[in-house]
Amino acid sequence: MRPSLSLLLVAALLGGCAAPGARSPAAPPQGGALAHDNLHATVWMQTAAEYRAATLAAFNLAMDRLDAALADPDWDALPLDERGGQPVAGLKPAVIVDADETMIDNSAFQARRILDGGAFTPGLWQGWVAERRAGALPGAVAFARHASERGVTVFFITNRSHQHDWQATYDNLRALGFPVAEDGSNLLLSGDPRAPEKAKETRRKWVGREHRVLLMLGDNLGDFVDPVDGSIDERAALVDRYRAWWGRRWIVLPNPAYGSWEAAATRGCGEPDRSACLRKALRRD
Ligand SMILES: [Mg+2]
Repeated sequence: MRPSLSLLLVAALLGGCAAPGARSPAAPPQGGALAHDNLHATVWMQTAAEYRAATLAAFNLAMDRLDAALADPDWDALPLDERGGQPVAGLKPAVIVDADETMIDNSAFQARRILDGGAFTPGLWQGWVAERRAGALPGAVAFARHASERGVTVFFITNRSHQHDWQATYDNLRALGFPVAEDGSNLLLSGDPRAPEKAKETRRKWVGREHRVLLMLGDNLGDFVDPVDGSIDERAALVDRYRAWWGRRWIVLPNPAYGSWEAAATRGCGEPDRSACLRKALRRD
C-alpha cells in the first residue's frame, strides 16, 4: 500500500532532516508529481552558471571566515543551547559540514527520478549512494582542504544511514579528495554509535565536546539548529534568532529541490497531491 502524503511528511518531521534517502524531500510520495515539481530546480542545479557562482561564493566566504575564526580562540559556531556556555578556548578547531547538496551533488539522482518517473523508494536512493557517483560541488573540496591544511578537522554530519550508506559515502568522499580520515572518524552518519539519535543536534554536541566549531555549512536548517519541524513562521523566527550568524558562522548552500522547508510549506495541507499542496503555499501578495 502506498503511504499517504501525511504519513510521509510525519516521517520527514520525525527525521528532522533533509537527507534525500532518509525521507521525502527527495523521497516523493508520488514519483510523477515530484518529477514535475522538481524539474526547474534540478535543471537549475545541473546547468545554471548562477548556481555554480552561488556555491563558489559560499566556499570563498567560508575560507575567509575560517581564517578569521581560527585566529579568535573564543570563536564558536555551535548553537547556544548546544554549547551550553562551555568555554571553547583551548579546544581543537573543527568545522561541521553536511554532505548532500552541501559538499556533494546528487542532482543526477533527482534527474533520474524526473526522466524515469516512478515512485521514490529507499532502495533507489541506496542504489544511487552505492554507485558512489555523487560529484563535488564547485569549491567544496578546495574549502575542505583549506581547513584540513590548517589543522581544522572537517566533520561530515549527514543523515545518510550509518547502517546502509557508510562505506559508499566514505569511498565517494575520499575519491573526490575530501579530507576524510582513513578510519572515517570524521564521518557521522545517522545512527552513528557515537551519537545515534537522528537529529543532528546530538552529533553536533558530540563534536563540540572536544572541539570549538569555527563554521557550519549546510543546505537545510537542520544542518545548523534544531528543531526544524515547526511552521513557516516558527522556522523563520529560529533563523532570526541567529540573524547575525548567517554568512559569519553559518553558511547556507542553495537547494531548491528538497529540504525541511518543504514539510513546513505543505504542513496541514490536507490535499493528497503534493503539487496541490505546494500551490496552496503560494501567496498572491
Ligand atoms: Mg543536505
